[in-house]
Amino acid sequence: MSRQYNCDKCPAYCCSYGRIVVTKRDIKRLARHFSIDPSLAEKKFTKTGSKTGERVLRHREDEHFLTICRFIDPETRNCTVYSARPKICREFPGEGRCGYYDFLTFERRAQEDPEWIATTDGL
Ligand code: SF4
Ligand code: SF4
Repeated sequence: MSRQYNCDKCPAYCCSYGRIVVTKRDIKRLARHFSIDPSLAEKKFTKTGSKTGERVLRHREDEHFLTICRFIDPETRNCTVYSARPKICREFPGEGRCGYYDFLTFERRAQEDPEWIATTDGL
């Protein structure tokens, strides 16, 4: 199935998801990227997920969504650690469709506004 989404036309909706799980390997990759110790990278870039106890990426405040991954560039909406991003980010959403983008496309068409962006506090 060919790719039905375009990340260049999306404000990085998926990066606002609160549970972006990282593995030890992901933390090591980030540590290498920043030339810091893995234990420091774990502390700086991740936190313990509130429900599951797993390590998840830390967030920061965002103008569109309440919060977003700390590695998003707020101007370009691109990932600032693209070459060192976690495995889960590399795999999402896979080939084919992206649910977030489908929603965005639907609303942009319905509202006749190609620039429309969803916000966390409503539509
Ligand atoms: S939500 Fe979907 S379309 Fe938007 S950046 Fe993420 S993968 Fe790309
Ligand atoms: S690491 Fe990059 S791709 Fe992954 S959630 Fe953060 S900004 Fe998005």
